[in-house]
Amino acid sequence: MTIYMAQFKPTSEFPLLKKYKKRFNILPGTIFAYDHVIYTDEKLPEHLIIHESTHFKQQDKVGLRKWVKKYLKDDDFRLEMELEAYWAQLASIKNRNEQFKVKQHSCQDLSSDLYGNLLTYEEAFEKLSHVQMQKTMW
Ligand SMILES: [Zn+2]
Repeated sequence: MTIYMAQFKPTSEFPLLKKYKKRFNILPGTIFAYDHVIYTDEKLPEHLIIHESTHFKQQDKVGLRKWVKKYLKDDDFRLEMELEAYWAQLASIKNRNEQFKVKQHSCQDLSSDLYGNLLTYEEAFEKLSHVQMQKTMW
């Protein structure tokens, strides 16, 4: 797995903070990945850096502006982007107990207004399991 080179800056410097705050319930501690910079006020564990790096890969592939536009407006796109990032994150955790804990936490986040209430906790849990299964089949 390639970890993209990332720069770190404080959350307050995220250039789209106002835009995102209008759209989502941004809590203190929310991490943003934008144009190869991770905006965070905390030191992140490796699995979170992998999650955010997945968004860099997506932004490179889709195009940064287009990615942001779709991420803000298109629920299906946002879910797809997050599932991919959470899968990469979970797959990077070797310890099964730790992986399960992070999975539960991910499902809480995914089903919250942080992402605009995309699905229920149970649906998130099923989707993350599904994505994991799909990937291991390749
Ligand atoms: Zn994400």
